[in-house]
Amino acid sequence: MTATRIDGKAVAADLRAEIAVKVKAFEKRAKRLPGLTVVLVGEDPASEVYVRNKGIQTREAGMVSNEIKLPGSTSQAELLSVVATLNADPAVDGILVQMPLPKQIDTQAIIEAIDPAKDVDGLHPANAGKLNQGIEALTPCTPLGCMILLEKSGVQVAGANAVVIGRSILVGRPVAALLLAANATVTIAHSRTKDLAAVCRQADIVIAAVGKPELVRGDWIKPGAAVIDVGINRVPGVESGKTRLVGDVHYESAAAVAGVITPVPGGVGPMTIACLLQNTLTAACYREKIDPKSLV
Ligand code: NAD
Repeated sequence: MTATRIDGKAVAADLRAEIAVKVKAFEKRAKRLPGLTVVLVGEDPASEVYVRNKGIQTREAGMVSNEIKLPGSTSQAELLSVVATLNADPAVDGILVQMPLPKQIDTQAIIEAIDPAKDVDGLHPANAGKLNQGIEALTPCTPLGCMILLEKSGVQVAGANAVVIGRSILVGRPVAALLLAANATVTIAHSRTKDLAAVCRQADIVIAAVGKPELVRGDWIKPGAAVIDVGINRVPGVESGKTRLVGDVHYESAAAVAGVITPVPGGVGPMTIACLLQNTLTAACYREKIDPKSLV
């Protein structure tokens, strides 16, 4: 048996095209465009690439994109002041402060300073709390992307046994909350879980968000299960001096057993920015008292 490969790139491209159409509908009703501002502190090369791609895709979707670049020496007070300015700016619907932040900055304080109505990363405790209570809210982008991939692949979530590996506020916890809201029976596994392989073998859906290269092996997977690999890990390649990207799942062995599986790269990764655009449009709709579902 060989799993069907989920093409995250194609699903993300379709989603971005749908968003672009909805942005036009939003503009007609609100007489303005949705706007996203990304704040980058320091010069982390991976973050710079990611922020550049966010800017390009935001503009391609027809929205206003702004980037604020601050030096790595920025103090917490300075960053809080930038966030306060963006909170007060009526043209800004979404604020995303790119993580990781330099060590002199208290990340949680920044997350909590962002107006929950503009929190397109969905990390503010007000939004995380709503998500856990099953109330509509801005939802973290990568977990939202995982759910869309499951839906587009025709995976039955209601009643399924779902195992989420990882309990971060960015991925593990919110994806578990979304699976629960979709009526899965959810287990959250983590670094202290005993016999992770046996826990995984019970799963109809495995979401791996660990950050450990190829941790999940084919013999951990129940035949026919859906496997969503969130991990992005850089490991030394076969050719000396070059690195390659791998997920948290050992693709070859897992694909031999699973029903559907996401590759790395080209699976969950492309969904994250597409869902950021979706969240920006959703935030703009909430702010303009427009039902996002009414945009066609
Ligand atoms: P994190 O380090 O914050 O959390 C990792 C979690 O894995 C922790 O909760 C920990 O308990 C658990 N864990 C660690 N070792 C474990 C083990 N041996 N067995 C079981 N559980 C273990 O990481 P994160 O921010 O949640 O990211 C996870 C992975 O997803 C990383 O590889 C990251 O790069 C990737 N990621 C990808 C995207 C994307 O767009 N595709 C977005 C965010 C994160």
